[in-house]
Amino acid sequence: MAGKRVGVLALQGAFIEHETALLRCGAIPIQVRTSQELEEIEALIIPGGESTTIGKLMHRFGLLDPIRSRAAEGMPIWGTCAGMILLAKEIVETEQVSLSLMNMAVRRNAFGRQIESFETVLQIEGLPPSRAVFIRAPYVERVWGEARILSYYRDKAVMVRENNLLATAFHPELTEDLNIHRYFLAMFN
Ligand code: GLN
Repeated sequence: MAGKRVGVLALQGAFIEHETALLRCGAIPIQVRTSQELEEIEALIIPGGESTTIGKLMHRFGLLDPIRSRAAEGMPIWGTCAGMILLAKEIVETEQVSLSLMNMAVRRNAFGRQIESFETVLQIEGLPPSRAVFIRAPYVERVWGEARILSYYRDKAVMVRENNLLATAFHPELTEDLNIHRYFLAMFN
């Protein structure tokens, strides 16, 4: 999988850590802030951060429709945490700018105050046990259509795939574990 050009949306949030993980996998990370940069990439990661801020900036930078059309053409997109929220068609109990691409309903900051941040090892369909950091993470309340749940933390769905789209409520890029980056890179040739 060497040499794949993977964009990392670099408007706000934890994008540097994704670049490091991609480099360790032998891919070429490309920071994306403009629609021109979007044309140079084969896949896109939307990082964690603050989903309301990233959504507003995507709107301001004119990136929402270009990302939606690349998704419709089949470009793989992976959202982590805030990125998961931005991919969801339904965000429970809030109104905010979103790409609205995946058939799932997510609830923000859903793990409650006492465990707002924690690290764990997840069982993921088709992958070895994988380390995951949750930081004020959402969980998935419901999926429909072609969306499939790949992992649960306790009884909450935290990883979903729908064809070329992938969403994780957690941050694998804040661990040493490259399983999910490799899985994402294997989603395209
Ligand atoms: N709580 C943030 C939000 O709702 C997401 C946190 C994160 O990306 N680590 O956007």
